[in-house]
Amino acid sequence: MTGPDTHETQERDAIIVGAGFSGLYMLHRLRALGFSVRVYEQASDVGGTWYWNRYPGARCDVESMQYSYSFSNALQQEWQWTERYAGQAEILRYALHVAERFDLRRDITFDTRVTEAAFDETAQRWTVAFDDGTRASASFLIMAIGCLSNARTPDFPGLSEFAGKVWHTGHWPHEGVDFSGLRVGVIGTGSSAIQAIPVIAREAKHVTVFQRTPNYSIPARNRPLTDDERTWWRANYARVRQSARREARNGIFADYPVKGALEDDDETRRRRFEGRWEQGGIPFMSAYNDISLDESANDTAANFVREKIGAVVKDPGLAALLQPTSYPIGTKRICLDTDYFETFNRDNVTLVDVRAAPIERITAAGVRAGGTEHALDAIVLATGFDAMTGSFAKLDIRGRRETLNAKWAEGPKTYLGLMIAGFPNMFMITGPGSPSVLSNMMVSIEQHVDWIADCLAWLRERDIAGIEAAQHAEDQWVAHVNEVAQATLYPRAASWYMGANIPGKPRVFLPYIGGVPVYRQICDDVAAKGYEGFALTPRHRAAAE
Ligand code: NAP
Repeated sequence: MTGPDTHETQERDAIIVGAGFSGLYMLHRLRALGFSVRVYEQASDVGGTWYWNRYPGARCDVESMQYSYSFSNALQQEWQWTERYAGQAEILRYALHVAERFDLRRDITFDTRVTEAAFDETAQRWTVAFDDGTRASASFLIMAIGCLSNARTPDFPGLSEFAGKVWHTGHWPHEGVDFSGLRVGVIGTGSSAIQAIPVIAREAKHVTVFQRTPNYSIPARNRPLTDDERTWWRANYARVRQSARREARNGIFADYPVKGALEDDDETRRRRFEGRWEQGGIPFMSAYNDISLDESANDTAANFVREKIGAVVKDPGLAALLQPTSYPIGTKRICLDTDYFETFNRDNVTLVDVRAAPIERITAAGVRAGGTEHALDAIVLATGFDAMTGSFAKLDIRGRRETLNAKWAEGPKTYLGLMIAGFPNMFMITGPGSPSVLSNMMVSIEQHVDWIADCLAWLRERDIAGIEAAQHAEDQWVAHVNEVAQATLYPRAASWYMGANIPGKPRVFLPYIGGVPVYRQICDDVAAKGYEGFALTPRHRAAAE
């Protein structure tokens, strides 16, 4: 690894990459345990996903009272969430508040991007290189780089020739965008687009939506939180948080389903779906406990949503284009919206089906699809992310024998989504093979951070210098992750969960779908058995080697 030695060569216990919610809490925990830690962050401030994704309408799809840290009761009692689902600006304010409240900034270096990381087996240390040519080293490397942080721009021919402005939802300008008077093209109809389109359509002269695959979307029913609601959550936090961790498959406290969709007659089932539809949000998907498992059960939910789309969109031909039919509901990430389908009733919104009329190229004047040129002043790319592995693939990470990109050439291989065989002392927070994106990220982040912090303290107490996932444990975990996924309907969709949105990316199911409570128990058991499945290197042996 090249690059000058600088002040950053100071020896530390741990380097954390990323100052989003995972990196912030990791820093807090390790510092409290007396470890010397430094966080490196490419952005100019904390917030991770919520720092970058500032597109109009950006909002979390987990309720704010649950999409928040639980580690500090004082914090959760004092923070005043204003809406049922917090918008990006409020979540970012919360991240800034946490950084201030726990005095985290003094141990974070901003505007510094990690480019390489290499494990030195003799020293049992990681050396990390940055984009400014400096380096740092530490015993432990903790990747807190997020699951959806590598924004993807498809390779559209002619994109650079476009005369207007182009923005990606995942890299939105801080100063915002004034759409008034503009003809705007939005490419993509995933969660980001579904949130942005209604807001842009209210401002722009015209919006042309380029849709390749329609999405199932549930009304968010966002609204201001009342004082009574906040008081209820605060009074019940201890019980609610515990339930989210230990009982909820997706880490979201809710009214958990106890029966399958076909156990109810048609009318009862319709009433139940109606109730969840009116309530709004992700809990629609847990109206029954077999929607992601059983095709017939799934059909009942999918049909219900298709009917709702048909009832909202006035033009039947347009409604048919917006009704998903090619994959089971929920097998692509379910979307939440505010007036998404209603927006297509507006005179200034046009839908272009790019499945039937593929995008051929971007021209200076707009987008040409199926032989028709759509004239545009601006293009919004809501084309998603190279999820879960993309942020690792950008880095040159070298373990004991090989690079991570070589090791993951056929898909990510991890033990518990926490560590990788051949990459000692490197942890991932919500890595591939853990529940991560299938769960309330806050719950999964806190679980991983606590597990890693407890692990480092345990190693220190025993004077153990190295920890590495054993190959057999990793092999078993990878097989288990795949086996559990194959028992569900998820692999049926060409989703980013499967890596299907990136040409050439191996098709493997990236997160662990066994559920947050089961997964937590497995991790707890592994730790209780002295980190079963991990090879441990005592400090004296490491020194002798
Ligand atoms: P996404 O779900 O991957 O959607 C990308 C969209 O772009 C899809 O409609 C995709 O079509 C389309 N697309 C990609 N390449 C294309 C091409 N070459 N030509 C035409 N269309 C193309 O990305 P996202 O909307 O940014 O969301 C990603 C994830 O971030 C979500 O699933 C969610 O987990 C998270 N997120 C959450 C929230 C929230 O909390 N409310 C908001 C935003 C994002 P295909 O479907 O055909 O591939």
